Amino acid sequence: MKNQMHQASGNLKRVTPHPAHPERNEQTHHRFASRILALSGILQSTLEINELLALFAKEIREFVKYDGMTYRFPSLKIDIKLGDQPINNCAYELVVAGDHLGDLNFFRSYPFETSELETIENLLAGLLYPLRNTLLYQRAVESATLDPLTGVRNRAAMDSAMKREIGLSQRHGTPLSVILMDIDHFKQINDQHGHLYGDQALKAAAECAESSIRESDMIFRYGGEEFLVLLTGTDLAGAELLAERIRGNIENLPGQTEKQIGMTVSLGVTSLAAGDSINALFQRMDNALYRAKDEGRNRVVISQPADQGVKP
Ligand code: GH3
Ligand code: MG
Ligand code: MG
Repeated sequence: MKNQMHQASGNLKRVTPHPAHPERNEQTHHRFASRILALSGILQSTLEINELLALFAKEIREFVKYDGMTYRFPSLKIDIKLGDQPINNCAYELVVAGDHLGDLNFFRSYPFETSELETIENLLAGLLYPLRNTLLYQRAVESATLDPLTGVRNRAAMDSAMKREIGLSQRHGTPLSVILMDIDHFKQINDQHGHLYGDQALKAAAECAESSIRESDMIFRYGGEEFLVLLTGTDLAGAELLAERIRGNIENLPGQTEKQIGMTVSLGVTSLAAGDSINALFQRMDNALYRAKDEGRNRVVISQPADQGVKP
């Protein structure tokens, strides 16, 4: 471990579970060891990353004044900012047994003193193992809910989100809409350009749809080359506009390799009606998609809640 201070430098100091200052006398060492133990106990009460860092931020404030804290772990898309970020900072790269556990920064309007940095570093040692457990848990949750090819949420995640959001929408009387998107003639794309190209095209379609929707909207891989977009707080007119935007964006995507082939999608849209069951909602959404295919593909068709069960 490098033993140097990095204030307002943007450089990182590595923090590992080993004592930061082995030269300290035994009494001080014991005092810190018991603090770290107590801190670890508190931090082990959660596996939720925001909660863990909020707890840690609160605990550390008992010993060192600071204005803000940030934590980043890009591979799990974790980017947490607490408080302000004035000019002075101390930055740490957190490492356990060679595993990178993210970068943590503390900010303050005036410089940190050496003794304060020592305290922070010692307390950070109490964060490492609870943080590692939390990241392992978050990674497990992610792999259980994400589709590995496209990176969007999978069918299992869709089932629980649909159940939850339909319940909330019915309880609070807020609108909820769904879009079912299916790639046009995808079998031909596979047949003509190969399965690998098909996979890349599928990924590109998912990414394009995901970047066309808002942060609060959710996209799921429903199966094969079909995706479901769940829009909470959005009525049928809003959902139709969004579906049209997705359709246009995918139509204008460049090819995935040097081959430039046009890819289009058809989309069926509907909204939740009072007293709707999940099955009735899906039936209308399916019917709308079926009509979009039937009417020539590369289009959006909406199904009004009153159209329930009507087959074209
Ligand atoms: P339509 O316009 O009527 O939707 O025609 P289509 O060819 O897209 O419909 P169909 O359902 O007949 O074909 C879907 C194809 O999607 C068949 C299947 O091999 C392919 N597919 C499903 N999942 C994947 C995947 O993960 N990767 C690739 N490359 N192809 C997939
Ligand atoms: Mg299909
Ligand atoms: Mg298709």
